[in-house]
Amino acid sequence: MDKKRITDGIHFLTFEQIHFMGVECGPTEMYYVASVFHMRIFKVYKDNVSSMDIEFTRDTVREQLREFLMEFYSMPYLFLGRPEYVESDMFSEDEFNHILQEANDRTEAVRKKSLRQKSPLLELCREYGLDPEPAGHKETSFYAKCVTGRPHQMYLSTESEAWGCGFCKIKGGVEELKAAYQQYRGR
Ligand SMILES: [Zn+2]
Repeated sequence: MDKKRITDGIHFLTFEQIHFMGVECGPTEMYYVASVFHMRIFKVYKDNVSSMDIEFTRDTVREQLREFLMEFYSMPYLFLGRPEYVESDMFSEDEFNHILQEANDRTEAVRKKSLRQKSPLLELCREYGLDPEPAGHKETSFYAKCVTGRPHQMYLSTESEAWGCGFCKIKGGVEELKAAYQQYRGR
């Protein structure tokens, strides 16, 4: 999408992502366009523009955006690091930090539920030493070491009892995991 297409949008937040090594990744700009029933949110990071459509169910734009940000920051896989306030005409830095705290509390609650999950796929991952860990956005979602032994993570869901690695382009269920393990770690 062309950056020019978001010039109709109203800017409501700039935040920075601080990588765990303390490196600043550069600012992300957030814009919105509201109609009666819907809102479209634009996220602009460097040359990358992405948009998300949400329902407009709250009384005010401000309340809706607050709710959106809470959900948005509850999805840790979207972030390289810790989000940090830069500027906003809509939210003060205190409010922003409060939203982050709520998002963090929500993620932690989901994480705790995840840790109580039991499933054959999860057990098999543990048996193979793939160290499955809660993804944090949904209690049935996990990350684990890639079955191939390469240095990245694969994704798994106890809801569908499925796993997949986007880098290696492999996926499947319990049987496919057994087969992949045999193939790559062979024994
Ligand atoms: Zn992989």
